[in-house]
Amino acid sequence: MELSKFIGCLIGTATGDSLGAQREGFFDFLEVRDIGSRYTDDTAMMIGVAESLIEYTGFDGEHMAKRFIENYEREPWRGYGWGPPRIFRMIKSGRKWNGMLDREIYPGGSFGNGAAMRIAPIGLFYCDDPERLRTVAYQSSRITHSHELAMEGAALEAYADALAVNLKPSNLNKYEFLRELKKFVKLKPYQDRLEAIESLLDKNPKRDEVIKKLGNSIEAFNSVPAAIYSFLSNYDFESSVVYAVSLGGDADTIGAMTGAIAGACYGVEGIPWRWKDRLENREYLEKLAEKIWEIKRRLNINEGNGIE
Ligand SMILES: [Mg+2]
Repeated sequence: MELSKFIGCLIGTATGDSLGAQREGFFDFLEVRDIGSRYTDDTAMMIGVAESLIEYTGFDGEHMAKRFIENYEREPWRGYGWGPPRIFRMIKSGRKWNGMLDREIYPGGSFGNGAAMRIAPIGLFYCDDPERLRTVAYQSSRITHSHELAMEGAALEAYADALAVNLKPSNLNKYEFLRELKKFVKLKPYQDRLEAIESLLDKNPKRDEVIKKLGNSIEAFNSVPAAIYSFLSNYDFESSVVYAVSLGGDADTIGAMTGAIAGACYGVEGIPWRWKDRLENREYLEKLAEKIWEIKRRLNINEGNGIE
């Protein structure tokens, strides 16, 4: 377990998020390389996930929901969607975090990417336990997104982060990486898109074709696969994230999710300084990643799996 990869995953999320946020604003694709520092709700909620896992030394839905609410109330201007603040109000009024409250806003539950966008700390925390990772990804998702497609998208993104944090960049085999994801994922829309990624990796497709086959919008199944493809079809952090953001659509979230995977793979040293330098709250994000890393190290030693 390399600390630099843990830090890379969280800093990568915020970097991709802020670059994407700029792209969604007023700047064109070429300019995006050198601007961007302010992150959005994606990173703000990712921070909430990390804080809760650290404070509770594991997952607790009520605790995590409380963190979400506090962080939202401190910074409501981060660009939150329409749903989460309403759910936060319901929880504050005494409703249970796992009461599938999103179904009162979205019939059948939300299948947006709001759970996948914030999942990176869960990918790190459970990087050596895929089944626990899946369970916690589903449960954490349920606070705001109870549709099975949202939960599965969150689990898939978390698992991609976990695979990336466990591998040596020089050993990255995109087809093997995809095979692992295919073995993990359970729902057909995701299986189909992972197949599509495989065929896209064999050619050098135009962006239009990628968007048509993988999507670039706010549904989890139309954005998590685009993030995975952005990572696998490029060769370093910068090219992965620039590509993700260039797909347009829900660029901050696709940027954030790509940044998480690429940051976990290439480590924090793989993220260009001109981006890291400008990133707001960088030191705090580093500290959160460090704490997760320390907890994991401690748990491993207690379980007798430690090297030291
Ligand atoms: Mg956002």
